[in-house]
Amino acid sequence: MVSGTQQIFDKLDRDLAEGFRMMQRLRLLDLDNRKGKAPGGYQSTLAESRLPFIFMNAVGQQRDVETMLHEAGHAFHALATRAEDIYAYRHAPIEFCEVASMSMELLGNEFIETFYAAPEAKRARREHLEGVVEVFPWIATVDAFQHWIYSHPGHTRQQRRDAWLNLMKRFGGDVDWTGYEEALANMWHRQLHIFLHPFYYVEYGIAQLGALQVWANSKKEKTKALRDYQNALALGGSRPLPELFSAAGCKFDFSTATVKPLVKLLQTELQKLLILGFEKVFGSFGKPGGKPSPFRLDSVKRNPFSSTR
Ligand SMILES: [Zn+2]
Repeated sequence: MVSGTQQIFDKLDRDLAEGFRMMQRLRLLDLDNRKGKAPGGYQSTLAESRLPFIFMNAVGQQRDVETMLHEAGHAFHALATRAEDIYAYRHAPIEFCEVASMSMELLGNEFIETFYAAPEAKRARREHLEGVVEVFPWIATVDAFQHWIYSHPGHTRQQRRDAWLNLMKRFGGDVDWTGYEEALANMWHRQLHIFLHPFYYVEYGIAQLGALQVWANSKKEKTKALRDYQNALALGGSRPLPELFSAAGCKFDFSTATVKPLVKLLQTELQKLLILGFEKVFGSFGKPGGKPSPFRLDSVKRNPFSSTR
């Protein structure tokens, strides 16, 4: 896990690679699952030493690679603000913290051949991009539901249930829930934000739009995109959100003008992976002699209810 990830950063950027190497040297990574270990995955900053620490529960799945890259993005954010003396400026608003992490998922996924043989890498990349698409309607559902809850005080259980089901009808896509009506009606229980963080969760959508722009920029001009990304991270929380986005080479804007080209990019990339990867991937299963991978590519999709952050 560590060496595969290190190789990704070696290919991506010298400074990021050095940062991750330092984390290994200083034993700032607790990655493997073990008996009795708390669940979940996160990056936490050790305030006195101003160093990042990554905690997670890797068991050898593709999701672990995504989590590793995600948390590493947060860790790079912490490292980038180390020299900032004002404590409050060493942390950006969460909408931008998640740009740091989600960008790293997209940028790092370009090099996951360090974990997989080529056809498997394509499939992993495809699953990741599908997850990016799928998370938007889920975020919209959770956000709209929170707005409904707080703007309808005194509502009954039945009214709340109906409101949720209406939103699932609006955003939930073409899924047949026959026989699972209760699961559908209670699905919102799975999103912790609804219970703990009023009106929060939309920040992941805001951040994903930023991350997609960083990724789009890197496709045009990789070095500049990486440099802008790092410069924006180094600003920490010293600037308002739109300025952090702009330093990273992104627009803080959710209009069609910004979203449409990103959707187009996702469509094009997914199409490429479908054409180039699909048959090869499914043809390659069970064939001996391929590069052995310690990482399983499960059919389980990236989970939008993930306990990682
Ligand atoms: Zn995160």
